[in-house]
Amino acid sequence: MVIPGDPQDRWIMVTWRFLGGSFGLLTAAAILVVLTGSANPLGVIVVGLVATVGGAAWLHRRAVLVLDTSRRTEAESFARILQGLSRSVSPAAVVEAMVGDLGRVTAADHCVVVRLEPDAGSPVATLVSMRAGVPSTTSVLPLGDLDTSQGDDAEGVTERLAASVEAFFGIANTLAVPLRHDRTVIGAIILSRRNVEAWPAATQRVLAAAALEASAALSRVDSARVVGAQASTDTLTGLPNRRYFDEFCSLLGQRRRSEDDHEFGVLMVDIDWFKRINDAYGHGVGDEVLRAVAGAIADAVRDGDVPARFGGEEFAILLRNSSLQVALEVAERVRLAVSQLDLHAWRVPGVSVSVGVAVGSRSHEPISDILVQADRALYRAKRGGRNQVVAA
Ligand code: GH3
Ligand code: MG
Ligand code: MG
Repeated sequence: MVIPGDPQDRWIMVTWRFLGGSFGLLTAAAILVVLTGSANPLGVIVVGLVATVGGAAWLHRRAVLVLDTSRRTEAESFARILQGLSRSVSPAAVVEAMVGDLGRVTAADHCVVVRLEPDAGSPVATLVSMRAGVPSTTSVLPLGDLDTSQGDDAEGVTERLAASVEAFFGIANTLAVPLRHDRTVIGAIILSRRNVEAWPAATQRVLAAAALEASAALSRVDSARVVGAQASTDTLTGLPNRRYFDEFCSLLGQRRRSEDDHEFGVLMVDIDWFKRINDAYGHGVGDEVLRAVAGAIADAVRDGDVPARFGGEEFAILLRNSSLQVALEVAERVRLAVSQLDLHAWRVPGVSVSVGVAVGSRSHEPISDILVQADRALYRAKRGGRNQVVAA
């Protein structure tokens, strides 16, 4: 493949044409000498040599062209992989971009990406078949495959991963490179093919370069996720903060409009007489009490619910798929858990909360309206004597 306009290629073409023309003339002269009968044995040897050198030059030219094509394809495929990665915004998208392009440019039958998710214990392997219409398979590899405590270097870990992947997916003839974050191995890209020949050097180069870029892209995505998690967490209590709560409510609002209507509940929780705790025991003890109350709230709700520090000594809890009866039960559980907190370590005899409860069930009722209703119920709980649950 020749790119028109590349000056280096133009010079190579001119040189080859000149050489080809010269050989053509030389061959014609040699044939003329043989045909006119003026050749002696030495002349015949010279003609034979001319033909041999001509043939060798032609073969050399073909080999150079094949090498050239493979280099250019390699460069183009690498550029494509980079483009794909720079567009990718999630680990899954990075892996997808990488696998798709690697499969196209290397003659692999399967491409496996192994990756240690930051919050998962075991490496996750995604196998993509290059045959059209074959769905990809994602599996969790047995624990310990990325364990570097056995004293292995990156190559050792990568080999172990490749062996695991071969055994797990029943594939053979693999070519593996590590994915790294700083110096730690965070996964591997593994190509496999049925053909048992050695992998071409060009494929090895593309794979090594792709792994380097993929490692950088995955590290970028992971750091962005950590920053994102920090931005939505309240530093004092570790609960989601108000920003996260508002974003979650807005997402839920959109989904409720597009999907089946589900009931949901909102609890507004406020610590009673908290100012007195601060005044009597100091702000530091106040902070500890806030943490303890946040812990009790987090323990009292289900996994799918969203408890958040709404501000100051006030918490909001979003209960998904919850009737009024369930919301009242959860609210009572929260109230009881807080009232039973053992705060003697800070010499605080105890603390209580008041809870306002509201539920929404109509699909077009804005969640913000339900929040306002829960807030009103909370103030009724305060006026009613505190340490109690009141429904809107
Ligand atoms: P009520 O039962 O009516 O809710 O009375 P309260 O004293 O709890 O309510 P008030 O609004 O009068 O006081 C809330 C206090 O919470 C005032 C504020 O200093 C304190 N507070 C807000 N955020 C923090 C915090 O992060 N740490 C500590 N220690 N105190 C906080
Ligand atoms: Mg209060
Ligand atoms: Mg308050």
